[in-house]
Amino acid sequence: MGEYASLLGATGPLARAVEGFEPRHEQQVMADHVGEAIADRSVLAVEAGTGTGKTFAYLVPAILSGRHVILSTGTRTLQDQLFHRDLPMVSAAIGRPARVALLKGRANYLCRHRLDMADQAQALPGMEPPSAKTLARIRAWSQGTRSGDLSELDGLSDSDPAWAAVTSTRDNCLGQDCPQFSYCHVVQARREAQAADIVVVNHHLLLADLAMKEEGFGELLPGTDAVILDEAHQVPETAAQFFGLNVSSRQATALIRDALAELTRSGLVNPGIREELFAVEQSLASAHSALRGLPERIDWTAAPDAFIESLDAAAVLLDRLARAIDNGGDEAGLKALKRRAEDLARVIVELLDAGEDRGVRWIESTPRAFTASFTPFEVADRLREFMQARPCAWIFTSATLAVGDDFRHFLERVGAPDARTLRIDSPFDYEQQALLYLPKGLPDPSDRTHTTAVLQTAMPLIEAAGGRTFLLFTSYRALNEAAALLRARIGFTDRYPLLVQGEAPRDSLLRRFRESGEAVLLGTSSFWEGVDVRGHALAVVVIDKLPFASPDDPLLKARLEGIKRSGGNGFMDFQVPQAALALKQGFGRLIRDREDFGVVAICDPRLQTRGYGRTFIGALPPARIVHDGAEAASFLRKRLKAAGIRVPAVEAT
Ligand code: SF4
Repeated sequence: MGEYASLLGATGPLARAVEGFEPRHEQQVMADHVGEAIADRSVLAVEAGTGTGKTFAYLVPAILSGRHVILSTGTRTLQDQLFHRDLPMVSAAIGRPARVALLKGRANYLCRHRLDMADQAQALPGMEPPSAKTLARIRAWSQGTRSGDLSELDGLSDSDPAWAAVTSTRDNCLGQDCPQFSYCHVVQARREAQAADIVVVNHHLLLADLAMKEEGFGELLPGTDAVILDEAHQVPETAAQFFGLNVSSRQATALIRDALAELTRSGLVNPGIREELFAVEQSLASAHSALRGLPERIDWTAAPDAFIESLDAAAVLLDRLARAIDNGGDEAGLKALKRRAEDLARVIVELLDAGEDRGVRWIESTPRAFTASFTPFEVADRLREFMQARPCAWIFTSATLAVGDDFRHFLERVGAPDARTLRIDSPFDYEQQALLYLPKGLPDPSDRTHTTAVLQTAMPLIEAAGGRTFLLFTSYRALNEAAALLRARIGFTDRYPLLVQGEAPRDSLLRRFRESGEAVLLGTSSFWEGVDVRGHALAVVVIDKLPFASPDDPLLKARLEGIKRSGGNGFMDFQVPQAALALKQGFGRLIRDREDFGVVAICDPRLQTRGYGRTFIGALPPARIVHDGAEAASFLRKRLKAAGIRVPAVEAT
């Protein structure tokens, strides 16, 4: 362990260079294992408890190895943080310069060709046009940008119509036939990635590429010595999105919109072609209207005949459209359009013919669009094939990969059952810093009084802590009910700023929560993970129910069916460990620092009454368990007082 211990030790270069750096034995152990896995090209899964400092624990060996490494993260935010902050900092501190590159999905880069076309797109009927002012702003910026990364443009949201108008998709990119190919930002980003030692990507991009739904790594992966996946608990879900088939009405609308723009530009729009485009549009509109009145997500078996027939007709019409475009000539834009129409027709046919023995088909619809999808039962087999085909080191890490000491659930889902594993406990002293409060006598989670009971449990804790609370729900229904009940409570919102998911963007809610220092925040799944509130703004986390995935979710059904077919027990082999990992993520919001303290209350009686409750409790950090609300409230009061925080007493109302 020598080298990593000295680099990450109390007198090492990182301690000298990084403000607030704390040497941790656990971090050095992890660095040692990551270094070994890179050297012998093995598969390793590391669960590193909160506070281990896992980022440095993989960056140091990655940089020191001098090998080609891909770092993949779960979010763009972490991707930016690694590239702009952590990598340069570690590399400078240990005196090992490395060529690093940031590679995002193509939807993040300006497409110069589409920017040239954007004015013509404006004139087309039936589309929300990008504003001329925004396009002018993008044009002015495009003159000076080096990366072409649209995140450089402050305040431009990816939902702005201008964003879609000036970025490319795999479908509409002209590739080598493009007049802007030599200046293309997407091509340039990929070239830089190929020349770099360390490339920072995200799981969406990596998995989309592995599933051949994007390109970008075709040339990159063969020369790679190690792939390190942080926030790896997200990998199986992300993989499932890419290893199936998807057809969306938006995709078809974009094709029609781009076809009109391209044909207008080439002077080829004629009544015949317009009719072909209109026919495709009509068949998709009929498919969409056949879904009206049905639930948002339905199994394929519940799809009306009219939907299937319209989709079938769309495939035939798309093929006809491809032939009509083909007659228009040999221009690059037309060739790309023809390919898109053919591809879309092919995917529709594959979806219509997909065998029920390999996966599940399902449809999602909103008033504006629909998506029809096929999800295979087994993603693990595909991932295993990819890893075997690329025999480099594969290193998975996250704060939540194991249930207790058991990594089986995660490893089986990523197709690496024989991987080496390492579990590193958090350096935090949970027994001193946290209490796990399991209230007695609460109603069953399906009881209609459950949310009221959750709030009754939470109130004494909120009052003892002076706000400083996250209330985490497993459904929007419960979240909305709780928000209404708290607002109706006399004086509540005067004492505690109430922040409710959906009423403002997530980042803004979190900023207000940290700044207030005595707020109460209500959130659902997106607040269960990736949220970091250090310090005393957060002292209580209340969880309403065990986070089992909805049994109506077609994706879950697909997985359970797959497990059943291979002789397993879907509930115990999948649902329980999956929910235990999610619960661990929720619990993980509380203690983010050595100075943090607080109470996690879990208001689901099944934790205490069902046999599987032990699995959940065993997966959580070793906090002291109490069943008495008064004891939990007194713990909060004492700890806040010791931290010099005065909480005013609340008069009974
Ligand atoms: S090559 Fe593709 S992404 Fe690049 S400018 Fe041309 S169309 Fe846009």
